[in-house]
Amino acid sequence: MSDIELANRTDRLWLPYCQMKTMATPFEVSHTSGTKIFLKDGTELIDGIASWWTACHGYNHPHIVEAIQHQAQRMPHVMLGGLVHEPAMRLAVRLSEVSGFENGKVFLSDSGSVAVEIAMKMTIQHWRNLGNEKKIRFLCFRDSYHGDTVGAMSLCDPVDSMHSRFKGFLLEQYSQPIPELEQDLDRFESFVNQHADEIAGVIIEPLIQMAAGMRFHSPEVLAQLFSICKRAGLVFIADEVATGFGRTGSLLAVQQANIQPDIMCVGKALSGGTLPIAATLASDEIYRSFHSDDFANALMHGPTFMGNPLACSAANASLDLFETGAPVCDAMKLESQMMQQLEPLKKVPSVVDVRCRGAVGVVEFNHEIDVTNAIPFFVEHGVWLRPLRNTVYLAPSFNIEKSDLIRICQAIEKFANR
Ligand SMILES: *Cc1c(COP(=O)(O)O)cnc(C)c1O
Repeated sequence: MSDIELANRTDRLWLPYCQMKTMATPFEVSHTSGTKIFLKDGTELIDGIASWWTACHGYNHPHIVEAIQHQAQRMPHVMLGGLVHEPAMRLAVRLSEVSGFENGKVFLSDSGSVAVEIAMKMTIQHWRNLGNEKKIRFLCFRDSYHGDTVGAMSLCDPVDSMHSRFKGFLLEQYSQPIPELEQDLDRFESFVNQHADEIAGVIIEPLIQMAAGMRFHSPEVLAQLFSICKRAGLVFIADEVATGFGRTGSLLAVQQANIQPDIMCVGKALSGGTLPIAATLASDEIYRSFHSDDFANALMHGPTFMGNPLACSAANASLDLFETGAPVCDAMKLESQMMQQLEPLKKVPSVVDVRCRGAVGVVEFNHEIDVTNAIPFFVEHGVWLRPLRNTVYLAPSFNIEKSDLIRICQAIEKFANR
């Protein structure tokens, strides 16, 4: 088949999160650069969401591209079963150092959902290795999103999730609202204490619950939740897949609450949005229960492309960029810039809230937004945004030009006043 015949053939691609029958025709991208997406028809779009929050340094960052090219010539891939290599070892050391897991271990995988599955297996097996077979459930939060695989889906909001079609099939977990007031914290603590025998661990998206509705909680609440769960002996899992690497205005969200989780999942921006890679970090205390003369205590998990050298090199290059401190500084500055631009929208009758935290800006409406209509509207205005439920949100590259940010916000204003 010729190139021309192959072009415009979306008929064999099954696309994510859409009703294929009624969706708007997807836009074909020819290339990316900086904070721009270039469509095949020549349209230039300013990207407001950095490809699901991954491209934190912008697209095609030369330092990351060069690292990938260099690694591609040496060794694109080798299995990690019984073999190790420099890019993976280097990444594990650096990740553990920046995240407070210096004495722990880093388990590499290829997507955030898998990193969460691994965290679940680690937690359950940790207790089993210690002889506790009763702790077989997780505590998670309303409005949470932890991934699309079967285990991870069970940790998402049980009622209002994207996975309601799988009700009855998923593992049953405990789910609580994130406390807002002092008395909510008391209620949360009694709940935890009441079920602590059964609950192996708790999982939270620290500071910002992204994919299930862009909700924020304070570092103080996060710190309180941590203390309550630790007092009850639960394994505390921070799912930093979305929040990690600067998105909330600190390298990791947990740093703002000054807490050290037992397990942490990272992904998304780990390779600066270039190659799929994720990691599950475990504290020494968790790891020690696996370290044994009994083979049955070993963690039975091993993705085929675990520690892929290309992806590790990309992640190492992204970490180089973070070492200067500039990306996190830029992310912090975005908070006030976005707030300044978006705040006037509070006056629009259909807007119920405008909030910004780090490099995330949220305009919340009093109704669900029809993505099929909204996306072409934004494309017409030269910006790439993908509304989520009742929000139009921004999660741009940290180095986005102020003028581009303003253009995105103007498009949102036009959308809101439509
Ligand atoms: C995106 C996301 C995941 C899943 O990551 P994938 O790479 O899509 O599998 C898990 N947890 C959080 C908090 C996320 O935002």
